[in-house]
Amino acid sequence: MKRPSFLVLLFFFFSIPVSAAGILAVCNDGGDPSNCSRNSIQFPTYDISGNRAVVEYRIDPGSLGDFSSSTLETSVSEILDTWEDVSSLDFQTEGNGFIPFDVNSSNYESILFPSSPLGYSPIVFDDNGTILTDILGAGARQDILGFAAARFFTTRNGVVQNIFESQSLINGFLFTLSNRPDFTSEADMLANFKTTILHEFAHMVGIDHSQGGQIEDFLDLGSRLSDEQKSTIPVMFPIAINPTLRLQRDDIASVNIGYPKNSVVSGTASISGSVINGNDGVRTANVIAYNIDNPLEELVSSVTDVDGRDQGNFVIPNLTPGTYVIKVEPIADDFVGGSVVGIHEPDSNTSSIPSAFYNGSDDLLLDLNLDQGLSQAFPIVLTAGQDLENLTINIGEDPKSFSLRGRAVNSLNFLNVGRRSRANLRIVKEGTGIRLVTLSSPNPELISFSRNPVRIGLRRNAKRIRVSFRPFNEFITTFPDLNNSTVEIPITATDTVTGDTVTTNIEIF
Ligand SMILES: [Zn+2]
Repeated sequence: MKRPSFLVLLFFFFSIPVSAAGILAVCNDGGDPSNCSRNSIQFPTYDISGNRAVVEYRIDPGSLGDFSSSTLETSVSEILDTWEDVSSLDFQTEGNGFIPFDVNSSNYESILFPSSPLGYSPIVFDDNGTILTDILGAGARQDILGFAAARFFTTRNGVVQNIFESQSLINGFLFTLSNRPDFTSEADMLANFKTTILHEFAHMVGIDHSQGGQIEDFLDLGSRLSDEQKSTIPVMFPIAINPTLRLQRDDIASVNIGYPKNSVVSGTASISGSVINGNDGVRTANVIAYNIDNPLEELVSSVTDVDGRDQGNFVIPNLTPGTYVIKVEPIADDFVGGSVVGIHEPDSNTSSIPSAFYNGSDDLLLDLNLDQGLSQAFPIVLTAGQDLENLTINIGEDPKSFSLRGRAVNSLNFLNVGRRSRANLRIVKEGTGIRLVTLSSPNPELISFSRNPVRIGLRRNAKRIRVSFRPFNEFITTFPDLNNSTVEIPITATDTVTGDTVTTNIEIF
């Protein structure tokens, strides 16, 4: 089966969710996706025929926590419509629409672990969380709202093709008001139930978690995010934090990869490419495209290496035309196991992934907040139907980490008689990160620098300093040739971290 994904309650979370738009991957080795060989990763979906992907389901006839069967039936139907409205998914009840018996901890095996297909996808209401306890262990029912996964899928020559049965379980322990001090009414709890099944149903049809585009705010503030911020977090975020039932652009873009609806995808654009570190593909980076005119509502994210080819590939699909900026960031470390985002658990190399806006070829702007990024990062204009391909984002350091430019280097410097003269020297950063550069010359008694060492911070691309020359009459004692020709004096700049040096000659007369 596909590994189930969990939706975790925020107030109990140990882990922080992250994710990107995408189809949930299946490791065809039957192993852990983080160790899945690249040729074994598959992306099954329900088959589409006649523009519809039919998913036949039955719900548990029993109750769920404080909710009656009829309340559950109405809510399920309403929520399935939400996904149907924006995709080619078509959820239909099979038979009379109910699993033949109330599923509980003594009889769930035949429904959740059947040896052969049931003929429908079961949605199990685990009345008080005892099934979840049986499967995942004590304590699970206190923080896992539910799980969902594909159960049966076709294979051809050993390769996964299409899902034809899935399953979902909702944990009733967390839909019992006496267990939820965060809710004051059954109505609030019912709203939470709806957001839960909205999320789980997407897993049933193969949609993965998404980290969205506000992870730094989430990590800082958690549940203290403003209501406005919460309302724009994707439904497929691994943690239930958005109380609304509104699918976000990130969710809609994702479901339309596998289940496109003409009226949704028509006229949209896409960005694809790869995130690399030197020559190596980067796995588990979250790449976000923000529409600069409406960044929180019109953002779509993708995790790198979605195809398991170790090339750092990403695809940001189904973007409305407009102007976008791109951000790269790590997946939160705690999005692992059932909360995983993308096909790999966060890699051990996550710390090498910066939080940075793309600023054109091989250039990143680091540690900007969203407002700064929107105004300073490289704008990408997407027109209707445009597929921007091969966008390469290199997060690695350029081995030549800086260069020396400015008047001191590029022009003849005339010395004054009896007083100092000056020229500008610019140290220009290449690649990303901080530079701490020391400057030296063989004649420190004659040449000095206005600042030494020179620090170029994360947000600067260069720093300009002054080079001061002692008067001509002091130079002439060391360089008698100055009477009739120019003299070149080497200036060496050394990166105090990497040890890289750049030497240039200053020409004086
Ligand atoms: Zn989930």
